[in-house]
Amino acid sequence: MGAGQLARMAGEASSALGLSMAVLAERPDDAACAIAAGVVVGSPFDAGTMRAFTDLCEVVTFDHEQVDLEIVAALQAEGGVLRPGAETLELAVDKARMRAVLDAAGVPVPAYRIVDPGPDALDAVSAFAGDHGWPVMLKAAQGGYDGKGVWPVSNRAEASAVLDPVGGRVVVEELVPLDAELAVMVARRPSGASVAWQAVETAQVGGVCREVLVPGRLGHDVVEAASALGQKVAEIAGAVGVMAIELFWTKGRLLVNEVATRPHNSGHWTIEGAVTSQFENHVRAVLDLPLGSTAPSHPCVASVNVFGGPAGADPATLLGRGLAVEGAHVHLYAKRARPDRKLGHVTVCGDDAATVRMSAWSAALALGTPVPDGLTLPAGLAARSGPAARSGVAP
Ligand code: ADP
Repeated sequence: MGAGQLARMAGEASSALGLSMAVLAERPDDAACAIAAGVVVGSPFDAGTMRAFTDLCEVVTFDHEQVDLEIVAALQAEGGVLRPGAETLELAVDKARMRAVLDAAGVPVPAYRIVDPGPDALDAVSAFAGDHGWPVMLKAAQGGYDGKGVWPVSNRAEASAVLDPVGGRVVVEELVPLDAELAVMVARRPSGASVAWQAVETAQVGGVCREVLVPGRLGHDVVEAASALGQKVAEIAGAVGVMAIELFWTKGRLLVNEVATRPHNSGHWTIEGAVTSQFENHVRAVLDLPLGSTAPSHPCVASVNVFGGPAGADPATLLGRGLAVEGAHVHLYAKRARPDRKLGHVTVCGDDAATVRMSAWSAALALGTPVPDGLTLPAGLAARSGPAARSGVAP
């Protein structure tokens, strides 16, 4: 269900196993349509469409969580096999529910409060800020992704300006001083058997993931603790398939920020960087097949996202330049190029952290990715982070 780049890459993994994947796409030109064995165009919010799609499939899984949980639950009750099911999906659909469930299970999360819409909402946010200090983070409980639906606010007036248009339930939480952000990917079978890949360091700009570094800057003990926490969260969630757990590292503590109950951008490195990719293990898990090894295939991996440049330059037209970078594994999602749209990623594996990061960025820049403000590029690329690269012109 869903036909974005995650479905496309899951389809590539399915194909290697001799399986055929159909997609329920919102639009016929969605990324996965070109490689799917069957395409149904329709809305996941339409019960009839979802039923017809479920009838087509031995097992239905998801590439995003913008779904109607009641429809998913009803189809499960009718005997449809949807993995993960509605209860697990709810954690990813609703940030308020996710915070509450994990908190109740003793998982460390940022200090938060759930605020219902209504005349008292602003007072509730102000009271929370009175206890924890401004600024605070406001998050729409539902509908956000890639930093949309997340707002830091510094005072009552700013909070009011966010609350009015959101209209629905929000989560207000402490603005955590981030020393690093990490992510853990876990694959889990219906029986509960699970495997985790090594925790990775991620860098976000404006709420959007720009690069993933394996192993990243954090020590072995932190990485191990993150993996253990991720597996605990997957168990609490009753995950089936792959689940991503995004974590904050702050003042010597790990906090769980977010979960996604599907393959995730922070796991793209596993395609070349691990014995089994997140996409293959997702397919194996939802079909209740034995899971593959998550061992890294190289000591160091860097994965950098490819974005459309300001003039809308299409990385597909720069493919040769990207591929000219030694060791660069280029993935383009065949999506229509738009400025700042995520259009692909590049992964480089090797023995040295600085070298793989340098190569991955070289290829992403060559494919027209603008340098995001607020991210420090590898030193050797500094010269390319000037106006040319910022305007999306490949170096
Ligand atoms: P989305 O669902 O849109 O990805 P997230 O909750 O993951 O939203 O937030 C996006 C990014 O915003 C995070 O990766 C992090 O960089 C920043 N962020 C979110 N919550 C907090 C917080 N409580 N304190 C500090 N930064 C935060």
